[in-house]
Amino acid sequence: MRENYLDLKNKIYYFSMLVPIAMMIMGLFVDNPHMGDHGVGFIWHVSLVVILSGCLLLYPRYVNRVFRMILMIVASVYFYTIFFLYPDTGSTFIFLCFIPTISILFFDAKLFYFSLALNSVSIIFTYSYIVLFGQGYQFYFIKQDLIGNIINFIGSQVIIYFIFYLTYGRIKKQQQYYEQLKQTERLKITGQLAAAVAHEIRNPLTVVKGFLELYEKDPAVSNDIKRHYRLMISELNTAEHVISQLLSVAKPNNDLDIETVNVNDVLQSATDLLHSYGLLHENKIELNMAEECFIAANTIEIKQLLINIIKNAIEASEIGDSVKITAEMKNDLVEIKVIDYGQGMSEVEVESLGTPFYSLKSKGTGLGMMICYNIAKKYKGTIDVQSTKGEGTTVTIRFPSENNL
Ligand code: ADP
Ligand code: MG
Repeated sequence: MRENYLDLKNKIYYFSMLVPIAMMIMGLFVDNPHMGDHGVGFIWHVSLVVILSGCLLLYPRYVNRVFRMILMIVASVYFYTIFFLYPDTGSTFIFLCFIPTISILFFDAKLFYFSLALNSVSIIFTYSYIVLFGQGYQFYFIKQDLIGNIINFIGSQVIIYFIFYLTYGRIKKQQQYYEQLKQTERLKITGQLAAAVAHEIRNPLTVVKGFLELYEKDPAVSNDIKRHYRLMISELNTAEHVISQLLSVAKPNNDLDIETVNVNDVLQSATDLLHSYGLLHENKIELNMAEECFIAANTIEIKQLLINIIKNAIEASEIGDSVKITAEMKNDLVEIKVIDYGQGMSEVEVESLGTPFYSLKSKGTGLGMMICYNIAKKYKGTIDVQSTKGEGTTVTIRFPSENNL
C-alpha cells in the first residue's frame, strides 16, 4: 500500500518536473540570440540546463539537506546566468527575486534562510557589477531606476519571507498534530496489549505469592530460607505494583463516581498517607491552602494524582529539604502547585514526562506521570511542569472549579 503510494508520488513528481525542464530547453533553442554563435556563454547555459535537469530528476533518490542545498545553488547559478547572458530579456530579473521560493517547497527553515541570504548577497554583487563596471548600457532598466529596483527586490524578499513564515508555521502545527495522533494511537494499542498481558500475569503472581507467604510462616522452614522467601515476596510485590499501575493506565476506570472533591481535604489526606508510609524520610511538606477549593472529580483518582506528584517531588529533593504545596482559586480554576528544590529536570526530561516507562530512578516504574496526565485529562484539568536542572521543579495542576463547570 505504502509502496504504491510512494510510486504514485514519484510519478507525479517526475511528470511535473517535465514542465520546468521543457521550459528550460525551450529557453535554449527558441529565439535564442546566442544559439548560432556557439560561444562560451551558450555552452555554459546548455551545461547548466543539463545539470539542473539532472538534479531535479535525481532529487527523489537523494532526499536530504545536502542535495537540496546543491539544487538551490545550481538553480541560483542558472537564473543569474540567464540574467547576465540575456540582458535584453528584462523579465529574467523577476526570476532573481523569486529564487528563494524554490526552497519553500522543501519546508526546511535553515535552507530557506540560506537561500534568502545567498540571494541577497548575489543581488548586491550583481548591482555593484552593473553600476561599478559600467554595464548600465546593457541593463538600462536597472540602471535607470536603481533605487526603485532595489526597493522592489527588498519588497519581494519580504513577501517571500512572510509566505514562508505563515505556511511553515501552519505545516509545522499540522505535522505536530499528526505526530500526536500517531502517538496516541500507538499508546492505545500498547495499552490494550499491556492490559491483556498484565491481567494474565497477575493471576499466577498472586498464586505464587500466596504460597510463598504460607511457607514463610511455616515454623519447619529454616530462617535462612525464610530470608530468601521474604526477598521473593518483596520482588513479587514490586512486580504486582508495576502491573497494577500498568492496568490503571491501560484500562482507566470510567465507572468511578464523580463527586465534589474538597481539594484541601484530599491534599491533607495525601500528605498524611505519605507520612504514614514513611516515605517522607526527613522531608517536610509545607501545606499552604488559602481558601476552600472544590472540583468535580473522583476523590480516589485526585488523591492518586497528588500522591504521584508529591512523591516525585520528595524523591527529587535532598533529605531534609521541604516540599511546598499551595492550593488556591485563580480565575475559575483551582490551582495546585507542588514545588520542590531538588535535582530538577532538563527541557528534554520535562518533555519526556508522561511517556510510559520513562524513569530515571533505579526502582521507578515510569508510569506515575502518565497516570497523572490521564487523570487530569479525564476531568478537564492540565498539568504544567516548570523545571530547572539543579534548582528544582514546580508542577502546576489546574482543574475547573466545581462552581464553574
Ligand atoms: P517514576 O517516579 O516511577 O520514575 P514518574 O512518571 O513519576 O515515574 O516520573 C518519571 C521521571 O520524571 C522520574 O524518574 C524523574 O526522573 C522525573 N521527575 C518527575 N518528577 C520530578 C521532579 N519533581 N523533579 C525531578 N525529576 C522528576
Ligand atoms: Mg513517580
